[in-house]
Amino acid sequence: MQQAQYQLIIVGGGPAGLTAGLYAARGRLEVLLVERGTTGGQVLVTDWVDNYPGFIEGLSGFDLVDKIAAHADRFGLTKKYAAIASLDLTGEVKSVTLENGEVLTASTIILCTGARPRKLDIPGEYEFTGRGVSYCATCDGPFYRNQEIAVVGGGNSAIQDALHLTKFASKVTVIHRRDQLRATKILQEKAFSNQKIDFLWNTQVLEVRGDKSGVDSLLLGRQHGGESVLKVTGLFVLIGIAPNNELLLAHPMQTDEGGFVVTDEEMTTSIPGVFAAGDIRSKRSRQIINAAGEGAVAELSAERYLGSQVTDTSHNRSE
Ligand code: NAP
Repeated sequence: MQQAQYQLIIVGGGPAGLTAGLYAARGRLEVLLVERGTTGGQVLVTDWVDNYPGFIEGLSGFDLVDKIAAHADRFGLTKKYAAIASLDLTGEVKSVTLENGEVLTASTIILCTGARPRKLDIPGEYEFTGRGVSYCATCDGPFYRNQEIAVVGGGNSAIQDALHLTKFASKVTVIHRRDQLRATKILQEKAFSNQKIDFLWNTQVLEVRGDKSGVDSLLLGRQHGGESVLKVTGLFVLIGIAPNNELLLAHPMQTDEGGFVVTDEEMTTSIPGVFAAGDIRSKRSRQIINAAGEGAVAELSAERYLGSQVTDTSHNRSE
């Protein structure tokens, strides 16, 4: 039988992947982490992390992932920065084909591909992306100094980022489709007491309008009828996340209706030897601490799986 180059390949280098890598490197597994961009994932664009245990004063998302990555480096985690073209997860030896044609093989895979911001899918949204429509307050907030802008959404991302945007904008209007926020109470309290934040309830953004110089207004629809125009120069769309599951579509892997990967509490997917951790998983709580914890659990499950594969004990490492 073909022998795998690695005992474990981790796909994705956010908090889940880096933590799985930390555990695997510390456990002396033959492990490789493959990341298509920069390690860190969505946390990189998180302005401030206030609820990661041990960091009493809070720290930036960038600093947190920098510390997790440095911790994994301390145990000698090997990383490869490359885009993956396809995965073959069937069979005892799994393969990861990179866009440059290189094929990597492993006995186990941990999927940590995360998620990305959802889109409103309304007229003007794509046309004005990068010219007034943004999905990242940390990245683009400073462009809106002393301007009136809007945030759409009512979850933790929308409210946390609306608060962050008040550092720059003169006014932030939060547009929410219901009359109650989904965000945690402490964020709600901060937002309700912030003089720069206004709320428009039971309201949807129907269209983003503007001209060559960028966004100048939004067409809004009230839930019980009636349209209005809100003059703003920027719209931050923060309405949840969609799974980065494109590599998995060809596989008979169990997912939920949103396309997130279903696992058991050991992070085991429906395919033997394949585990998943972090935002790609189907779950309710999406916290950085969950992602890190799931990365650790997935790695321990992968180790147990490797131990159970008696024929799979010797590995030839090619790099
Ligand atoms: P989320 O919790 O799913 O909230 C999405 C929000 O957008 C909801 O208020 C939803 O409205 C609204 N929405 C969804 N589709 C919409 C549409 N087409 N048009 C208008 N509004 C729409 O997503 P999230 O805030 O991005 O958070 C994602 C995950 O990360 C959550 O688990 C969250 O707890 C976590 N997170 C945590 C923190 C933190 O702990 N500080 C910070 C950021 C994110 P409804 O309420 O009506 O459904």
